[in-house]
Amino acid sequence: MEFAAFAERAGRLEAEPADLETTSIVADLLADAGDDLETAVRFLLGRTYPAHDDRTLDVGPASCREAIARAAGPNVTAEDVEARLADRGEIGAVAAGFDFGGQRGLSAFGDGSDPLSVAEVDDTLRELAAATGQGSESRKVDALFGLFNRCDPAEARTLARLVLGEMRIGVGEGTARDAIAEAFLADVDAEREGGPGTGIDGEGGPETGIDGEGDDTDHENEVAAGRATDGAYAAVERALQVTNDYGRVARLAREEGREGLDAERIRVGRPIQAMLAQAGTAADAVESFEEVAVETKFDGARVQVHYAPGPDGFGPQLYSRNMDDVTEALPEIVEYVADRVDVPVVLDGEVVAVDDDGSPLPFQEVLRRFRRKHDVDRMREAVTCRLHAFDCLLAGDDLLEEPLRVRHDRLTDVLPEAAAEFRVVDDAEAVARIESAALEAGHEGVMLKNPASAYTPGNRGRDWLKRKPDVETLDAVVVGAEWGEGRRAELFGTFLLAVRDGDDYEPIGKVATGLTDEELADLTERLEPHVVAESGTELRIRPEVVLEVGYEEIQTSPTYGSGYALRFPRFVGVREDKSVEAADTLERVARLAEGDGD
Ligand code: AMP
Repeated sequence: MEFAAFAERAGRLEAEPADLETTSIVADLLADAGDDLETAVRFLLGRTYPAHDDRTLDVGPASCREAIARAAGPNVTAEDVEARLADRGEIGAVAAGFDFGGQRGLSAFGDGSDPLSVAEVDDTLRELAAATGQGSESRKVDALFGLFNRCDPAEARTLARLVLGEMRIGVGEGTARDAIAEAFLADVDAEREGGPGTGIDGEGGPETGIDGEGDDTDHENEVAAGRATDGAYAAVERALQVTNDYGRVARLAREEGREGLDAERIRVGRPIQAMLAQAGTAADAVESFEEVAVETKFDGARVQVHYAPGPDGFGPQLYSRNMDDVTEALPEIVEYVADRVDVPVVLDGEVVAVDDDGSPLPFQEVLRRFRRKHDVDRMREAVTCRLHAFDCLLAGDDLLEEPLRVRHDRLTDVLPEAAAEFRVVDDAEAVARIESAALEAGHEGVMLKNPASAYTPGNRGRDWLKRKPDVETLDAVVVGAEWGEGRRAELFGTFLLAVRDGDDYEPIGKVATGLTDEELADLTERLEPHVVAESGTELRIRPEVVLEVGYEEIQTSPTYGSGYALRFPRFVGVREDKSVEAADTLERVARLAEGDGD
């Protein structure tokens, strides 16, 4: 494909505000791209390399301006280009404003009489990306000059934007995904349904993976509108998730149809996007999942570990959440994995900085290590990092579609010591207990996951919830207690809490969660002298001690005299500094319950 044809479509896309039209222009472009299909898709997204590949052109705006100035002729300086940029605000418009023909004879690339092709632009950009060391910056500028020198204004606009990775044509990943489905799978789907296919054969596509038993009428409408079926979009989406390569997926869709896409698997050495979490409460998790897997939320940096042991193996290689290669910065994690893992794996986890006792250090500490390229050994002495793996995406086989429970079992098989603890519970009380223990151990909190869920790369779905921290705490007065049970029978185990209402204290809830044995012993000792009445295991206590408690929500409730009840109260600490007169009031509780803050 000629670069001019690509630039012309880019121009049409820029002029086209409506989304539907955008997708069909892109679909047409892909259908016409021939051998340049992979490159064309990447160029549309402003990339030379697929997303999983962390190579970049490494061309700064200054080099781009210099190349433009040189191509524009001897009377134009980089400063002139900069001035125009300040005026127009955008490099593409600046590049399109020059006449580049004059320097042709000086081009390092032929005599300039051949039209520039998409493949040639791609080759040149890849060459300049590979240039390193002394003089590489000026070689990059030379190569770019050679390209600009052969551009007409529309090509120059597109090239300048491509080099700086910002196309400004309204084509995002969603558009590219839809366009791939519409360019290469719409006709195949029509044929499957016995519809008016236009003869493009999906080579094996029609026999497999048919999911067209849905609503026929809808389906026909979709095809008539030039659209693919939902199944086709989903197949493209899934293939993109596991490959992170729009070019490859476009080619597979064209050449192998749905079958080729469905056969794509996560692969060691090709990082995928991390699954993400939404905020949610323990009650949300208990309501939405049959059971809740509670994990520690580690306060570190996300890593994806790729490793295939053996002489022809790969790695261990570590990737950040943005799929940058961070292997060099974390040699102890590399050694740790290489020493222990004996099957090909892709693991998801968190790297945390720890002190000499293995306790977690604040996030800032891990940042001192995470992307470091120099002085790695010295920093390794200063800050120790540890891997907490919490998911296993591949262990011999692709596990993405397997339920979390199965993936976690495989994780425990392949790397038992680094596997994050995985506790399956079915009530919010248990979540609160685990959370308290995690906080006490110095972690950030807990993650609540659906043990039946698949791993959905890049997706911020409802299957992973990061437990919302309690928004407020309440300083409440202890007005009663109950003796504990079992080995805690000698200690108070539950505390009745109250808030002030004028001179009275009105109960609002009971707290039994979040207390260690020592804290219970301490509170028993403090409160026992203030016991005013006892019946059965229940005690009435004179208001003397103030506790800080967390909670998930305040509800109106007839259970307690205050008319409110704390949902999932959790002990935070004793307010040594507060007298009961300074404890929270019923009025504040009422305002908090209304969501009115303080
Ligand atoms: P946030 O950054 O607040 O959106 O929280 C999500 C992040 O928590 C993830 O991207 C991980 O880096 C991190 N994280 C820590 N522990 C876990 C865990 N057990 N499961 C999933 N993510 C975790």
